[in-house]
Amino acid sequence: MPQRQYEVLIIGSGASGGWVAKELTERDLSVLMLEAGPPRIPTRDFTEHIWPYQLKFRGFGDQQRLLKNQPVQRLCYACDEYSHQFFVNDHENPYTFPPDKPFLWIRGRQIGGKTFCWARESYRFSDNEFKPRDGFGEDWPISYKDLEPYYDLVEDFIGVSASREGLPQMPDGKFLPPMNLSCGGLEARKVIEKKFGWRVMPDRVANLTVPHRGRPACHYCDQCQRGCHTASYFNSPSVTLPAAFRTGKLTIVSDAVVSDVLMSPDGRAQGVHYIDRKTHEHREARAKVIVVAAGALESTRILLNSKSSLHPHGVGNSEGVLGHYLMDHFTIEGAGGSMPALRSSKREPVGRPCGFLIPKYVNASGTPDRNSNFLRGYRFDGDGSQELYGHAFLLPELGDAWRKRVREEIPYYFSIEAQGECLPRAENFVTLDPNKKDAWGIPALHINAAYGENEKAMARGMRDHLSQILDAMNLASPTPPSKELSMFGKNIHECGTARMGTDPKKSVVDGNCKVHDARNVFVTDGAVFTTQGCYEPTLTIMAISARAGERIAQSFRRGEL
Ligand SMILES: Cc1cc2nc3c(=O)[nH]c(=O)nc-3n(C[C@H](O)[C@H](O)[C@H](O)COP(=O)(O)OP(=O)(O)OC[C@H]3O[C@@H](n4cnc5c(N)ncnc54)[C@H](O)[C@@H]3O)c2cc1C
Ligand code: SF4
Repeated sequence: MPQRQYEVLIIGSGASGGWVAKELTERDLSVLMLEAGPPRIPTRDFTEHIWPYQLKFRGFGDQQRLLKNQPVQRLCYACDEYSHQFFVNDHENPYTFPPDKPFLWIRGRQIGGKTFCWARESYRFSDNEFKPRDGFGEDWPISYKDLEPYYDLVEDFIGVSASREGLPQMPDGKFLPPMNLSCGGLEARKVIEKKFGWRVMPDRVANLTVPHRGRPACHYCDQCQRGCHTASYFNSPSVTLPAAFRTGKLTIVSDAVVSDVLMSPDGRAQGVHYIDRKTHEHREARAKVIVVAAGALESTRILLNSKSSLHPHGVGNSEGVLGHYLMDHFTIEGAGGSMPALRSSKREPVGRPCGFLIPKYVNASGTPDRNSNFLRGYRFDGDGSQELYGHAFLLPELGDAWRKRVREEIPYYFSIEAQGECLPRAENFVTLDPNKKDAWGIPALHINAAYGENEKAMARGMRDHLSQILDAMNLASPTPPSKELSMFGKNIHECGTARMGTDPKKSVVDGNCKVHDARNVFVTDGAVFTTQGCYEPTLTIMAISARAGERIAQSFRRGEL
């Protein structure tokens, strides 16, 4: 039987793939989506309502099993006894790095990708990010105005709870009502706004504070990284993929590990070569257009591995740019202390899955805060909250005396961290490792990245400000901000390596996400970021994906693909 040729084939079903699928199928194109991982089943895989006493290791996790199967993934705060199923097996999915440049690569391989366990923080970029204009690197070929309608579309569809602040450096959007700040957050707002003149606002998060488009509001169990039976936060299997399925135009094949894009001798993509995750059988799938949306580094890996006579170094790599300009945010963490005035015997209502954010001020246009020791800037996030379990573990008494103290002296902690922008530099790059392969025989990625002088100078500015904030908050037993920058990759906001631009000699894709050197191949995830800003990338990934989906459908109908 001849193999069916779809109009579009999408690799990956996470934040990016979900949006491209929705936009294409709603424009009546037939779409095949190949996803490397299995589907997740809520009754088996979601654990947000399970209590520690229902787990074998009481929530502390089976350390031996984690160490054996997920020695890298377990270093992510969200990969524990409750939610390790959302993260990859490190032995099946190896990668390498130079001994002096460690990289933490956290991945989720399933229908939905990392959107099951993400922290849902959703901020728009502004032209501070799209057009930095400070003499370093390249601008994006698109501006905030180009992306604004797609931010509107995405926020309106997925539901983002946020306050309207009217700040030029972090545009407002189509928001659901914000969550409240905690008592500690309100105190931080009072102190920090007075001392620095900076806005302290609730995090903007893709959680529903009211029912929205058929999904119920959040019931504030505050365990989102474990799944959500009521679909009250955004993940692609609950939101974008059902919309695409409703059109009748989407087919998903799970457990399909794509190895490479199949190119014809005239330079057109014809389909992809993939391997069944469970049986290891090799297969091919055909389509007129290929969209690579496998998560920034996985997308670049597939492109690098797609070698043919016209593309001997991989699709998109005619000028040797593919793989370069890798970025990930760095954080300065650990700053905090206790707030004695908020010690209480009354429980604060719990379960608010958001803290507070202080947007970027330093070196942001429209603000007076400047630091000429480095380019670009940083933002802060933190929270104030009661500490019940840690407090109970640490108290020395036993029996009734212990119970009395646990109940009557609930301590209140404040914590804050800063997250800074990483410059896009050619010397931070990925290649295929010539010696290492994954469980399906596909070359593993070699990741060669380190923070440079600009990030180190920015970290000094971040630490200074964190110390000043701790002083102003007048905390008891304060802990200072960490001396070290977080490890590259640790923030799981990896971006770049197939960047967007107008000049094919300096970039891999154009402003519509089309690969410069292949007529019918698109990349739509964080790989295409030209700069990273200091804000979380996923809302921007989704807006770019929605825009690319619309553009692909238009080009397809015009017969250009
Ligand atoms: C703990 C955690 C917290 C986070 N918090 C935030 C946050 O607050 N805000 C924010 O903006 N971002 C956050 N992120 C990052 C966010 O999850 C990602 O930016 C987002 O999921 C990227 O979407 P994507 O579609 O590009 O990739 P993914 O969601 O990773 O989806 C890619 C999909 O492609 C599939 N795939 C990969 N390789 C292949 C292959 N060879 N063949 C077939 N399929 C393949 C994968 O299995 C996966 O399903 C967080 C991530 C984690 C893990
Ligand atoms: S806090 Fe809200 S969104 Fe998160 S898992 Fe619980 S109900 Fe779902």
